[in-house]
Amino acid sequence: MRYAKSEALHEEALQHIVGGVNSPSRSYKAVGGGAPVAMAYGKGAYFYDIDGNRYIDYLAAYGPIVTGHGHPHIAKAIAHAAETGVLFGTATEHEVTFAKMLKEAIPTLDKVRFNNSGTEAVMTTVRIARAYTGRTKMIKFAGCYHGHFDQVLVAAGSGPATLGSPDSAGVPESVATEVITVPFNDPEAFKHAMERWGEQIAGILIEPIVGNFGIVEPKPGFLELVHEMAKEYGALTIHDEIITAFRFHYGAAHTMLGLTPDLVALGKVIGGGLPIGAYGGKKEIMETVAPLGPAYQAGTMAGNPASMQAGIACLEVLKQPGIYEEMDRLGAILEKGILEAAKKHDITITVNRLKGALTIYFTDEKVVNYEQAEKADGEIFGRFFKLMLSQGINLAPSKYEAWFLTTEHTEDDIIETLAAVDYAFSQL
Ligand code: PLP
Repeated sequence: MRYAKSEALHEEALQHIVGGVNSPSRSYKAVGGGAPVAMAYGKGAYFYDIDGNRYIDYLAAYGPIVTGHGHPHIAKAIAHAAETGVLFGTATEHEVTFAKMLKEAIPTLDKVRFNNSGTEAVMTTVRIARAYTGRTKMIKFAGCYHGHFDQVLVAAGSGPATLGSPDSAGVPESVATEVITVPFNDPEAFKHAMERWGEQIAGILIEPIVGNFGIVEPKPGFLELVHEMAKEYGALTIHDEIITAFRFHYGAAHTMLGLTPDLVALGKVIGGGLPIGAYGGKKEIMETVAPLGPAYQAGTMAGNPASMQAGIACLEVLKQPGIYEEMDRLGAILEKGILEAAKKHDITITVNRLKGALTIYFTDEKVVNYEQAEKADGEIFGRFFKLMLSQGINLAPSKYEAWFLTTEHTEDDIIETLAAVDYAFSQL
């Protein structure tokens, strides 16, 4: 494949955009460097780059594009918004329709509020938890990503239940010390943290199914313990469902898992590809938010008619019968084929898959926490990524990201992908 135009564009981008990318995860730094391929357009499960190469896309824009690129039903809704006004700064029928749809799909949401990104959604749930409980400390789990605001750019200290230290320049030490990071799927570490800090904890922030160090499911009983201890100590449970909601079924992961979080943050899929975030939860907790309560959150673009109409259209597509079953079926074929190819070429991997999302880790142990994901070989992944790219398969350029199937992938796409995997493994 030729990437001459992508390479030239990246050189130009470097002159004008910091690092040449608008989000660090888009750079190829973690996969051995090089110019990121610039896409010209997407259609269904495919991407076409500016050099004219075609790719089967498993990035799905880091999750949101669950109905593929340019889905006609969503495109029509966006075109309607473009013609009738994309931003009003007033109440609209669309936001009420969409709020009702979300509540119907996710029964734990008594009330919702829309904003513009996952970061904003999680940031506000943290503020609400603090406002509601009158406490300041938070617990989060190592390797879970919740956006780029100060309180979540905090890593664990030296032990499993120590106060955090800043994970990014610019995050004050004083903010980091309000956050305790605990290993995911480690009940003892969690218990220890709660016994030590429980009375000061405002909220426990968790991805119920992890999507940010690959796809990692909670061990049986782990989330139940988190919920029980939160209740015991008067802390709120906040589920970050920005990746998980509407990814695995028509609704949130916590419904699938039989849990009732106090607050839920949403984003990605619910915008049908347009910028969106949303949060919601129990009525009495949500009523802490302005204009009803003292916790402030606002947004010029929040609930804009374009994102609302795209989101409604996206959920209408996802509500069709058989959608998630088909992604699961194709995901299973993909997983099986990857494992067979690894065996054939004697490549050591672990695959974590839940329905239409999976991660390949170049490691020999089962991955249930971040420490294990970190140990997966990034150098081999980088070579694998480039080998797949050169065969027209677009993956996320990081060993920590998932492959996401969409409603538009077909069995033929999976067969083509598996042929590419077979060749890539033969070359590693
Ligand atoms: N929470 C989770 C679980 C995410 O995966 C992400 C983004 O990847 C965010 C929050 C932040 O969302 P956004 O990038 O829309 O701000």
